[in-house]
Amino acid sequence: MKLIIASNNKHKIYEIKKILGEKFEEIISMREAGIEHETVEDGQTFMENALKKAREMAEISGFAALADDSGICAHALGDAPGIFSARFAGHHGDDEANNALLMKKLEDKADRGAHYTCAMALVFPDGREICAEGYMYGEITKDPRGTAGFGYDPLFVPTGEVRTVAEMTDDEKNAISHRANALAELLKKL
Ligand code: IMP
Repeated sequence: MKLIIASNNKHKIYEIKKILGEKFEEIISMREAGIEHETVEDGQTFMENALKKAREMAEISGFAALADDSGICAHALGDAPGIFSARFAGHHGDDEANNALLMKKLEDKADRGAHYTCAMALVFPDGREICAEGYMYGEITKDPRGTAGFGYDPLFVPTGEVRTVAEMTDDEKNAISHRANALAELLKKL
């Protein structure tokens, strides 16, 4: 079966393709399918947003569609930025500004604990839906490091690690990431 990933984030697409590998006959991105579409992410939860993106893409493409919605939750900030992670600093996808704002908000906080959440939704053309969530726990460092990954990765040190996610290889991140954990859960339900 052909699967379309409802995302234009090349890092996410790469991570998902690498993990799902041979499970589908063909995995394509929206760009590869020639589809331009932006879902209005107005859900109250990661899963509401992921389901909305996957449903719209299954409808538009006619293929099975996989969508994720993800973000970082800082415990001292009541799990903010959460679903607003991509636009925390006001401008969608401005990683540098988002990271600077998170560092600033945590400046005087003793609790640096945080987790990434990933909600994954797979919607088939016949209407079947499979959902799963995955997490990665750790801390926000005071000393951002590394150039790999994307988003908040230079700030995030997973539990049991001394490196930030941005100092890890793709394979190391994929072994423990919220996205990998959500996909593993999803695959169990397939
Ligand atoms: P989405 O594209 O609406 O799911 O927004 C995801 C946002 O959460 C991204 O723009 C990043 O800021 C953050 N995020 C999600 N997953 C990751 C990750 O694996 N590493 C770093 N940041 C992430």
